[in-house]
Amino acid sequence: MTLSNGRHYLAIPGPSVMPDEVLAAMHQPAPNIYEGDIVTLMEGVTRDLKTIAGTTGQVALYGANGHGVWEASLANVAAPGDMVLVLSNGRFGMGWAEMAQGLGIETRILDCGMSAASDPARLEEALRADGDKRIKAVLVCHVDTSSGVLNDVAGLRTAMDAAGHPALLMVDCIASFACDRYEMDAWGADVTLAGSQKGLMTPPGMAMVWFNDRAAEVARGVKTSRYWDWTDRGNPEFPYQYFGGTTLTHHMFGLRKALDMIKAEGREAIWARHDTLANSYWAAIDAFGAGGSMRLNVPDRAHRSRAITSVALPNGQGERLRLWCSENLGVTLGIGLGRTPPHDYFRIGHMGHINAHMALGVVGVLEAGMLSLGIAHGKGATSAAAEVIASATRPLSQAAE
Ligand SMILES: *Cc1c(COP(=O)(O)O)cnc(C)c1O
Repeated sequence: MTLSNGRHYLAIPGPSVMPDEVLAAMHQPAPNIYEGDIVTLMEGVTRDLKTIAGTTGQVALYGANGHGVWEASLANVAAPGDMVLVLSNGRFGMGWAEMAQGLGIETRILDCGMSAASDPARLEEALRADGDKRIKAVLVCHVDTSSGVLNDVAGLRTAMDAAGHPALLMVDCIASFACDRYEMDAWGADVTLAGSQKGLMTPPGMAMVWFNDRAAEVARGVKTSRYWDWTDRGNPEFPYQYFGGTTLTHHMFGLRKALDMIKAEGREAIWARHDTLANSYWAAIDAFGAGGSMRLNVPDRAHRSRAITSVALPNGQGERLRLWCSENLGVTLGIGLGRTPPHDYFRIGHMGHINAHMALGVVGVLEAGMLSLGIAHGKGATSAAAEVIASATRPLSQAAE
């Protein structure tokens, strides 16, 4: 007998679950890219992307994955020999730093480990120590997807202002975009990165960089790459310039549909949904941990992402449980990325097109797995998760009465 037939749930932190509506929207012939509906569609897509990011700045689109926009963002603001400061909370912070190093940019790293947020006080200190203001940009992941750490972007901006340092603040929102609350302009970010395949619920292969006037000004004096140059992409005169070549037509059909779904739900409601579902996972894992060694990787709930949760389960049990769930119950959880060894962790992706029954289902699957594998754990996790869901919906149902 197998209990894994039926629709498989890929609960990794990207690619995320793609809505059937998004997939269906892509199922059509290619349009003429030079005129007609696709041109109008592009205008709306860029407008909506700016609204979701909370910015009046510009957005440049790329036929690339997240790694591509790491390079794209750097190529616009830092030339070889320039310096950047990277705040790292895991594999993705380090990855962006390695990208900068590979481009010949002098790269300083403020490593905050994999369980704590970047400390604004340490950032302020590092910037004050940069007497001749060589650091051109501070790079940080809003959420580092390997650890589930969520950084306080507004707090980091306050520290930069307190240090009186002119560096740009560049924020990788690839994991968090349209999942965790984010306000580019209000929080003082100069550059923001996202990709199609996480909160935006669209296939991998498309990514974007938002930039404000300050960043555009810095870019005017840099320009290390023609292809990654964000100028024409952000303000195209011809449709061909949106992607510096052929429009990613089918990504655009899918993204248009995803943005319609996001608009219909609303930013605040999307953030609230992710917050509730993340809280239900946290309550469940705390309950499991009360009778065993499972624990949340990020102790401070103020610095936990609502898009991805990293869970520690020592002695290789994390990986055993992950594999068991995938093989036996039709749920694939994320690997312990960035850990050495990786087997004591797994990650739950809860970004984008997800709802309460998916979260409650995963909690039950974890419990069944631990029962089957003989992994010690506390009781009551499903009830704890259900209680979070119930209390979040109570005002709604009462209002309806
Ligand atoms: C997924 C992710 C990336 C990398 O994106 P790819 O599309 O895999 O290249 C970078 N940063 C963060 C925070 C991510 O979550």
